[in-house]
Amino acid sequence: MQTAHLAASSVRHAPRRRSAPVVVVGVHGLAALEAQHAAEAPAADAASAQNKPTSNIPACDNSGGMGLSRIVEIDTTGGPGFGFEHFKQYDFLRDKEVVLTFDDGPWPKNTPAVLKALTEECVKATFFEIGEHAVWHPEITKQVIEAGMTVGTHTWAHKDLAKNPYAKDLEQAKQEIEMGNSAVHMVAAGAPVAPFFRFPDLQHTPELLSYLGERNMAVFSTDIDSFDFKMRKPDQVVKSVMTKLEKHGKGIILMHDFQHATAEALPELISQLKAGGYKVVHMVPRQPLTTLPKYDEMVTHQDKLSSNNTRPETSVVRTIGQ
Ligand SMILES: [Zn+2]
Repeated sequence: MQTAHLAASSVRHAPRRRSAPVVVVGVHGLAALEAQHAAEAPAADAASAQNKPTSNIPACDNSGGMGLSRIVEIDTTGGPGFGFEHFKQYDFLRDKEVVLTFDDGPWPKNTPAVLKALTEECVKATFFEIGEHAVWHPEITKQVIEAGMTVGTHTWAHKDLAKNPYAKDLEQAKQEIEMGNSAVHMVAAGAPVAPFFRFPDLQHTPELLSYLGERNMAVFSTDIDSFDFKMRKPDQVVKSVMTKLEKHGKGIILMHDFQHATAEALPELISQLKAGGYKVVHMVPRQPLTTLPKYDEMVTHQDKLSSNNTRPETSVVRTIGQ
């Protein structure tokens, strides 16, 4: 019911927003929707076309699940910025809409717990992964992608790029960004990675924003910073998010799938979002991330990027005589 209405509204809004970086889609792009209508119902009038189930947001297996309210496609050309803490140009969320974002993964136990909580409620989120972590735990990055989440990047080793040596050395800063891109892309093994980037500690420089613009990567700050990394108890995380959300009414929420308290908090947080009448919007990129060969090479030659990396020592080396 909800999805049919939303798809209809996307048809209404999409043409007006063609020049903006955010295009509202059901899951189909507008062109696909039009093609579907033409093929399936050539004689249908506007009213009956609107009654057709035009969105393919999958139905939730869990009938009480929260589900998604909208999927938005982001055109990252020129590196648009999102999140009012730093970037105020684009305000694509409606009242009571939230986007869930998780940083610093993939990480054992916590990331899978976050995925489980999201999947049980048929909710999707964006994960800004650290390159090194992806290389250490490639199977978890794959799980995130397979669960239909959007995966963006968050540098190679989570360095504050607004501090030295990175602030004064653009090349070193670029390397941090690009090795993060290359690592996540490599681990994804052909599955698309989003050209979505978040700066560690949300610290950017004007030069790096220009660089990301040239690279056509969207930059994500936040509207609602949970500060979950300071919290040990799940109920603190829930309270932090819900209190800020009540004040702002909507927003891109920053959390960390790296954090145990957040992973534990998620079922209750989703339940409170649902009870509060909030709706989850999922962001997808219009075009996939492209990497640069020079940095792909650097990541390939990192010692830790070995296909045998995750095998325990006992399975690699054994004593056969002494
Ligand atoms: Zn981070």
